[in-house]
Amino acid sequence: MPFTFPPERTLAGVRTKLLNWFDKYQRDLPWRRNAAGELAGTRDAYRVWVSEVMLQQTTVAAVVPYFARFLAALPDVQTLAAADEQQVLKLWEGLGYYRRARHLHAAAKVLVANHGGELPDGPEVWAELPGVGRYILGAVLSQAFDRPLPIVEANSLRVLARLFGYRGDPREGEGKAWVWSAAEAVLPQNRAGDFNQSLMELGALVCTPAAPACDKCPLSANCIANRDSLQDKIPPKKKPVAITEVAEVGVVIRNGGKVLLCQRPASAGRWQNMWEVPHSPRAPGEDIGAATARVAKELTGFEIEPGAEMMVIKHGVTRYAITLVCVEATLVGGAFAPGAYATAKWVTLVELAAYPVSAPQRKLMTALADPNRQPRLF
Ligand code: SF4
Repeated sequence: MPFTFPPERTLAGVRTKLLNWFDKYQRDLPWRRNAAGELAGTRDAYRVWVSEVMLQQTTVAAVVPYFARFLAALPDVQTLAAADEQQVLKLWEGLGYYRRARHLHAAAKVLVANHGGELPDGPEVWAELPGVGRYILGAVLSQAFDRPLPIVEANSLRVLARLFGYRGDPREGEGKAWVWSAAEAVLPQNRAGDFNQSLMELGALVCTPAAPACDKCPLSANCIANRDSLQDKIPPKKKPVAITEVAEVGVVIRNGGKVLLCQRPASAGRWQNMWEVPHSPRAPGEDIGAATARVAKELTGFEIEPGAEMMVIKHGVTRYAITLVCVEATLVGGAFAPGAYATAKWVTLVELAAYPVSAPQRKLMTALADPNRQPRLF
């Protein structure tokens, strides 16, 4: 049976209550201000776009400093389009999901090349840009141009499912279609951008996953989950992801005062075009020293003499829990063989800071560059 949304007068009441709540309680976030620092009625499309791309799969608190640095370095679509990809990746370093940064960069180039550097009020233009799906399109066009386009992300999904009492999983199958139809049904024709933000803000501040503050919620009188005490069942909990443990070895190859830094190829599954010391999985039971020499040879072509373990870095990548044992080694011979890596450079420890690297690699490089540290070579 098709889902029936409440009558229009109820939806109108929901809109008014939520917008009034948003006007009073919204957080003062940098992307809610224009370039002059003012809380503007119509927002700067570039600032909205950059912030929304950063906020996908990342918390507000983590994004705030990145947003400030990014906007200071690349204040508009022209400077972003003209930037070197390495600069864009460096500005994104630590934020993760680097494909977002590459797409943002590629999309800026398209806007400059084909649309005169304008960020247009045109869904058909945005729909063609790299990295722009339905969420980004709706978020940018509703906030920057007040277009009545819906958005769905984790916070608004939770609010909508609870508000309307949707019992299925709104993250999967027909639930996905339902949640977009709910976002559309409740969206006002005016102040669509503020309304979209108010849904997300309510989910972030009040209608939280584990402990929704229904007594402080402007929608408590309309909310089915609140009426039926189903807050902990709607939406259903995500199925836990099976985690796979992976043992890796990483090798810091030293040659005089320099270390070998390798650039991942554009075809890599992740961290494309970023830099790192060579690392690879270690076979079960494989001796660390032997694994280090094998990884160095297989990935770079260099022969090395392994030294002592330097540090162990534990980190997660999607469903993998990785334990990376880092070993310092001395160059013995050989020549760089591209393949696993696009290119490689011998760099000083000070120079390591300038290259875009993943978060676990930055941890390793920060330790390496510590002036009080002695190399652990035999
Ligand atoms: S009443 Fe409670 S469950 Fe319903 S939307 Fe508000 S905070 Fe969420």
